[in-house]
Amino acid sequence: MEKEEHLEELKRRVEDCRNCPLGRSRKYIVFGEGDSESQVMFVGEAPGYYEDQIGKPFVGQAGKLLDNLLAEIGLSRQSVYIANILKCRPPGNRDPLPEEINACKPHLMKQIDIIQPSIICSLGRFALISLYKGLPSSGREKFSSGGRDGKSISITAAHGKLIQTEKYNIFPLYHPAAALHQPTLLQSIKEDFAKLKELLSKPMPEIRPDLKTKIKPPEKTDTEEQMKLF
Ligand code: SF4
Repeated sequence: MEKEEHLEELKRRVEDCRNCPLGRSRKYIVFGEGDSESQVMFVGEAPGYYEDQIGKPFVGQAGKLLDNLLAEIGLSRQSVYIANILKCRPPGNRDPLPEEINACKPHLMKQIDIIQPSIICSLGRFALISLYKGLPSSGREKFSSGGRDGKSISITAAHGKLIQTEKYNIFPLYHPAAALHQPTLLQSIKEDFAKLKELLSKPMPEIRPDLKTKIKPPEKTDTEEQMKLF
């Protein structure tokens, strides 16, 4: 089976998913789109109003900014893969709840396992935190916000720095929606995209081959199993 077929099969399962309450309020799932063979995958937070209406990621003003940022470094929406942590829209565009992230994360992990990108660009704090679990504890302090447990990661500290987890290369970026409202973040995200261009021009740090996931057909999800995985 090719990657596209695996993704189609996974998408059909996500379309039937009701593992959290967002499955009842969505209009469409926003599964993700782009080149399944791309070495670069962008992971945002959750669909907003317009994404929910048509089932595509990043279609509003934030999407236009993302398109422009990609174009500035010679990429396009068609040449990368774009997905979100949540596949369904939280009502009123509120922040994702931890239990929603827990319920939906297995879908994203399977998507990543199928695409196997060399680098995952997290867009915003929620995407970074969700992918952060694989970061070795010895590397966490560098990106810590100094929270009570010393383990919470800060987008302010981590953006624009390559993080190698046990399985992934993660390049944290500010969310384009945040950059739309704050000129300083807009400048930062532009600079980080320039760094991304430079990173992509060199060989990416190798992920240990034994930790790379072999592509296998998506399995039927189970809420109890999902909660254990986060
Ligand atoms: S777990 Fe994900 S795909 Fe399933 S209903 Fe919740 S947000 Fe939608």
